[in-house]
Amino acid sequence: MIDVIVAGCGPTGVMLASELRLHGVAALVLDKEPEPTRIVRALGLHARSIEVMDQRGLLERFLALGQQYPVGGFFAGIRKPSPERLDTAHPYVLGIPQPVIERLLTEHATELGVEIRRGRELVGLSQDENGVTVELADGTRLRSRYLVGCDGGRSTVRKLLGIGFPGEPTRVETLLGEMKLTAPQETLDAVMAEVRRTQLRFGVMPLGDGVYRVGVPADGVAEDRSVPPTLAEVKQQLLAVAGTDFGAHSPRWLSRFGDATRQAERYRVGRVLLAGDAAHIHPPTGGQGLNLGIQDAFNLGWNLAAEINGWAPEGLLDSYHTERHPVAADVLNNTRAQMELMSLEPGAQAVRRLVSELMDFDDVNRYLTEKIIAIGIRYDFGEGHELLGRRLRDVGLKRGRLYELTHGGRGLLLDQTGRLSVAGWADRVDHVVDVSEELDVPAALLRPDGHVAWVGEDQQDLLGRLPRWFGAPSRQ
Ligand SMILES: Cc1cc2nc3c(=O)[nH]c(=O)nc-3n(C[C@H](O)[C@H](O)[C@H](O)COP(=O)(O)OP(=O)(O)OC[C@H]3O[C@@H](n4cnc5c(N)ncnc54)[C@H](O)[C@@H]3O)c2cc1C
Repeated sequence: MIDVIVAGCGPTGVMLASELRLHGVAALVLDKEPEPTRIVRALGLHARSIEVMDQRGLLERFLALGQQYPVGGFFAGIRKPSPERLDTAHPYVLGIPQPVIERLLTEHATELGVEIRRGRELVGLSQDENGVTVELADGTRLRSRYLVGCDGGRSTVRKLLGIGFPGEPTRVETLLGEMKLTAPQETLDAVMAEVRRTQLRFGVMPLGDGVYRVGVPADGVAEDRSVPPTLAEVKQQLLAVAGTDFGAHSPRWLSRFGDATRQAERYRVGRVLLAGDAAHIHPPTGGQGLNLGIQDAFNLGWNLAAEINGWAPEGLLDSYHTERHPVAADVLNNTRAQMELMSLEPGAQAVRRLVSELMDFDDVNRYLTEKIIAIGIRYDFGEGHELLGRRLRDVGLKRGRLYELTHGGRGLLLDQTGRLSVAGWADRVDHVVDVSEELDVPAALLRPDGHVAWVGEDQQDLLGRLPRWFGAPSRQ
């Protein structure tokens, strides 16, 4: 009996498997593809995901292979400067292609002992009160205590569970690929500037060695989007939209994507859960999908590990749906709004101009930017201090900094009083006595995902709160 089978070795699945391993849970990741894809979808990480990497000691690896850009211009592509005073130690976007993100996350998972099997497609599942039976395309049957479907937007796991996926189908489609262009850079720049004044779904981005990432609106919507376009189709659309095909040739890969917007009604059915694109899909405006999936995994990992390790308090595993479903619903909402603002209709263009004017107010700019970089999320932990339910940003301590103490994925009591104790939970929660000039609460209890579960200075109050997240105390 395997502890957890994760279907899908994309960024969500591999991140989840690592989080499980940190708690000693055995995770087997299956992917139907024999090799990782070469197609580059996401182009980077936003602040909250960079924080997540920092919390797990992966920051240096990501910074070494990424490029830092200023925050701003994400919301419907409306160009504005970075908002002032973003509440994060990482106020930048880390440009890093999705295949590199996946490689780094996979290396981390493998180092932690995650087993990955490629060329294994999940085609069937059934569950009973003790576990889940998974059936693979080659006829193999595997048994696990839990199964998590991280198998992308067309999730087989979601379909087999019969979970509703309401929303809107694709209405517009975009062709995307990496190819060589022979047109001189001045022509590219001039055409880009002219066409993008109205058509924001068109773009040409240099990747070096004469290769470019090219995106162009398709003519209609393909019946089967898993069939890539031909080079001839891309060139025809470039001619139609930009008036030139830039001498495009030698594509590395070609693909098409739509603007379907849907969310799974439930993230859990018994011993089977969904995360990442399997649970929610939306257009790539603002670059949020991969980030959202990584953050789903970060929320689910320790919950599921606690369940498997036998100390999860009642309802902990269901808090995954309760906390993460509204977050994705909000992303769906903002991508719908962005798509409207990018429409060429005169009414939408008028609203876009107004939103652009409003974004000159720093508060508005910050509000919309924080939605996308996901640092303002507050889970509903009930009434209390304004930090309660929010993730705590990295803060400097007398001895080092907070995120350096969270690499193991355990709970953490940051105690500036030196008078508190987590005895009884010491196997699950670290007690750090230190002080920070950046933190004006006497003590904060952090969950493994860095969200603040309690603030205060009263030991009895703390003892009342620990069981909610960390279960019953162990016998001394
Ligand atoms: C053009 C484009 C640009 C984007 N840009 C950004 C961006 O800048 N920033 C951002 O955050 N997001 C972006 N996204 C979204 C991002 O690519 C996805 O949200 C992200 O890949 C989701 O990760 P995932 O692991 O949940 O799913 P996926 O990456 O889709 O991985 C699912 C995995 O499951 C496997 N699988 C599927 N079915 C089965 C099965 N039955 N059995 C076993 N394995 C299976 C697949 O082979 C795949 O490896 C973009 C998307 C597109 C299309």
